Amino acid sequence: MTEKKRQFAVIGSGPMGLMAAIDLLRAGHDVAVYERDDRIGGMSASFDFDGLQIERYYHFVCKTDHPLFALLADLGLSDKLKWTDTKMGYYYEGKLYKWGTPFALLAFPKLGLVSKFRYALQVMYAKSITDWSKLDGVNAVQWLQGWLGQKGWDVLWERTFRLKFFEYTDQLSASWIGTRIKRIALSRRSLLQESLGYIEGGSATVLDAMQARITQLGGRIHLSRGVGEVVSEAGKVTGVRCGDQVHAVDAVLSTAPIQYVPGFVPGLPKDFAESIGRIHNIPVACVILKLRHAVSENFWMNISDPGIAIPGVIEYSNLNPGTREGEHVLYAPFYMPKTHPKWSQSNESLIDEVIGYLGRLNPAFRPDWVLARHCHRYEFAQTICPPGFQAMLPPMRTPLAGFFMADTAYYYPEDRSICESVAVGRRLAAEALAG
Ligand SMILES: Cc1cc2nc3c(=O)[nH]c(=O)nc-3n(C[C@H](O)[C@H](O)[C@H](O)COP(=O)(O)OP(=O)(O)OC[C@H]3O[C@@H](n4cnc5c(N)ncnc54)[C@H](O)[C@@H]3O)c2cc1C
Repeated sequence: MTEKKRQFAVIGSGPMGLMAAIDLLRAGHDVAVYERDDRIGGMSASFDFDGLQIERYYHFVCKTDHPLFALLADLGLSDKLKWTDTKMGYYYEGKLYKWGTPFALLAFPKLGLVSKFRYALQVMYAKSITDWSKLDGVNAVQWLQGWLGQKGWDVLWERTFRLKFFEYTDQLSASWIGTRIKRIALSRRSLLQESLGYIEGGSATVLDAMQARITQLGGRIHLSRGVGEVVSEAGKVTGVRCGDQVHAVDAVLSTAPIQYVPGFVPGLPKDFAESIGRIHNIPVACVILKLRHAVSENFWMNISDPGIAIPGVIEYSNLNPGTREGEHVLYAPFYMPKTHPKWSQSNESLIDEVIGYLGRLNPAFRPDWVLARHCHRYEFAQTICPPGFQAMLPPMRTPLAGFFMADTAYYYPEDRSICESVAVGRRLAAEALAG
């Protein structure tokens, strides 16, 4: 017997919402995607940066991003995925060191041999882990200190954690940080060479192809149409309200940051809504600069310096050389809770602050290298995953019949990536299709 065609609404057109929509359409259903923004992509959306179409936030691909590779193959885009031998640097207390290879570690003068050995052992151990559940309940700081010793923690991690997580520093799960170490450690061409990927044309290449696939399968994407309410009657979803219009649907899949969900789904039971409220996020204000010259040879530069309030800079053009001659793109993220005084500073002052740091990272830098400048903010940029996070995550199938939800928190323990949104989007669609 063929299944009855159902009407689905998908909230959000980031990669998760688009992936879920494709799977629902392939199962033969009617799908409308509602997006509050004026463009698709969510965190991976692009913008016109002084004539260059580029993501608002830096994006790279790792060798282990298999769900993304499967999607690229499905969309006929595998040849758009390119790999670069990337370099890493570590700017530590006023000096830039090479980083990311065994030789760089050996040459780094700020740690003794024992700490270096412990660091290498921990990376090898993290690479070997397949079942992260044992580390779910372990505190990340204690786990890192246990492996590296106090000195190793102080030199390698302490400032990065504080600049990214502030008061949440001591509330992170070891499995969450461990998967990050593993993902980067496995993205190599050889022991001596890191290899990271990018998509020719940026994330927009994949997103545009997903949008085209949705249209081809008969789906609809409504931009600048935020869902104000998921309407329900007698414990069952009946529609979505956008502005003053209600569209009748059988089920809704939300891929918006879950913190929004209690606000637009009044039909959820109170205790379920409260369980969502216990999950916190760190926002980002990410500066992007177009420069005449590269600041360094590195794609990724970690920074630990008392005079610099960003955890690193990402020189995107050292990964993706697809910018015009004499134009180098650099991202500099300020992660911070909204309670941090810097959050209320203007974008212009954050941009000036970053420009002020560049002369320290490279003494040859001059302000006239800056050709274009911008700063984007995303309030739900990084979920805080404390020990025991697995049990804190509310189920995707909510107690409100016909309402399913997921967001970037559901990657746990994996790293934030388009690849994970693709994987979670498929799980979310499968859950909704199960009825
Ligand atoms: C600083 C930074 C760096 C990153 N680096 C990388 C990287 O190197 N590699 C990588 O792969 N990934 C990276 N990512 C992550 C990647 O961009 C995200 O994982 C991915 O885009 C998340 O997509 P999503 O669809 O799951 O969610 P989101 O991008 O959060 O999309 C949710 C969508 O829902 C919409 N929405 C919200 N409320 C409503 C509503 N009421 N009605 C309708 N629509 C609504 C939003 O506008 C948004 O478009 C980075 C992200 C950031 C912020």
